[in-house]
Amino acid sequence: MTSLAQLAHAVAALSAGDLLPARRSGEETRLAYPLRLVDAYPLVEAVDDSGSAGGFGPWAAVVVDGAGTMLGVPLVAVSEQPLVVRRALPGDGAATGLVDRLCRPGRLRIAAGAFGLYALDAGLLPPREVVGEKALPVDQTHESVVVDGAGVVKWAVHLSSREGEPPAVRVLRHLSAVGFDETPATLGHLVWHGAARPGDKPTELLLASASAYLPGARDGWDWYVDDLVAHLAGGRTAAEVVAPAPLIGGLVARLHLAMATASRENQQPVRAASMSDAWWWRDDAVATLDEALAVTGGDAGARLAARAVRARAALDRIAAVSETFVTMVHGDLHVGQILRWAGGLVVNDFDGNPVLSAEQQAAMQPPARDVAGMLRSLDHVGRIVDKRSGYLHTVAIERWIARVREEFLRAYRAELAAAGQSALLDERLLGPFEVEQECRELVYAARHLPHWVYVPDAALSALLPEES
Ligand code: ADP
Ligand code: MG
Repeated sequence: MTSLAQLAHAVAALSAGDLLPARRSGEETRLAYPLRLVDAYPLVEAVDDSGSAGGFGPWAAVVVDGAGTMLGVPLVAVSEQPLVVRRALPGDGAATGLVDRLCRPGRLRIAAGAFGLYALDAGLLPPREVVGEKALPVDQTHESVVVDGAGVVKWAVHLSSREGEPPAVRVLRHLSAVGFDETPATLGHLVWHGAARPGDKPTELLLASASAYLPGARDGWDWYVDDLVAHLAGGRTAAEVVAPAPLIGGLVARLHLAMATASRENQQPVRAASMSDAWWWRDDAVATLDEALAVTGGDAGARLAARAVRARAALDRIAAVSETFVTMVHGDLHVGQILRWAGGLVVNDFDGNPVLSAEQQAAMQPPARDVAGMLRSLDHVGRIVDKRSGYLHTVAIERWIARVREEFLRAYRAELAAAGQSALLDERLLGPFEVEQECRELVYAARHLPHWVYVPDAALSALLPEES
């Protein structure tokens, strides 16, 4: 067996490239040295006591870099004498080890030291028809691995530290408890509870989550963009490209109704927001606008500046909203979180919005937050297609945007009304939250994704049209 001390010694010899997943963009994440192993969890149990079993891992490790950044890393040994390790790649068995531990019948929660393994709907793992691990080509904040064509393990890379249970764990446990099943079944989570340095406040960090794999699933940035492109080329009718919007509206409403349903663990899932909550939202929104103004250059910056007074006035209205309700929300809702597969549409990825602070992510929010996010992303699908089609169909696309917006909202409201819960959506917050969302997109584009600027630029210009 490999001891923690041996593993620590091996980790100290690594460079960032050995620990981080390969970046699709080729961009190198900077880590500060030295790298220090904080803790490790064997994903495969030692099978005998000959002294060698388990020596090659894989492990789920918590590593801290010289600047105090906490990293989650699946590790595997490439040699045992001397011990040399590297990040486990798809095929090395780390994700399979986690799925096996979560789905082994009869062991619902296995904790080892500071690690917690929370199995949730493990019984729902689909039959495993193929064997082996395969990478999912996903974005850069995580690495996802498909196990046996049946499960998906999402490894967190940068571990965001906050007090209390990670929001994704809390939310998915709640959704499972109230029977919401329009999301890939959650198999469970691996968390680590502790502090990187002695004396630091211990926090609970999400290292990995596992869910059922939906074969052929595509996200809305993919399927909705393709459908709209096909429509403009004459391959799909107007009705066909509007039809998903009310389905998404109903789905999001049922998600919010589930969030607002009491469970044994969460007996007060809805509460009235206070005036100070509203001021907090307003101040955050205005700070985001100011940041967008500061970082958005060129023509987009000029168009934003020309709208700054009206944008600020819209955001100020948030503070005046009284008697509104908050619940748990998705927190990062957009068409990219709506997966379409043979079984229909599901909502995915409850990890929260990476650009928000831990405090903002953990807070209960008005459901209008999610609704605004989805509305903006439907608009963005149109902007993407508009650019891709050389701005030859702008009028038709604007019309499509207006239609899907209407249909999404109509279905969302109808679903809440049918449940007698119309008050969950505070319409007064929609407009301001939509403006705030576009400001967030501008900040995100300026900082991380410059080629995205055209989307919030066009969307915000349409949201706050030039006064004539
Ligand atoms: P990210 O944090 O990178 O956005 P997501 O959890 O949203 O990660 O997943 C990214 C993509 O991976 C999705 O858009 C989808 O294409 C695919 N994916 C995620 N979960 C599943 C799943 N359970 N089944 C099939 N594909 C999935
Ligand atoms: Mg996502």
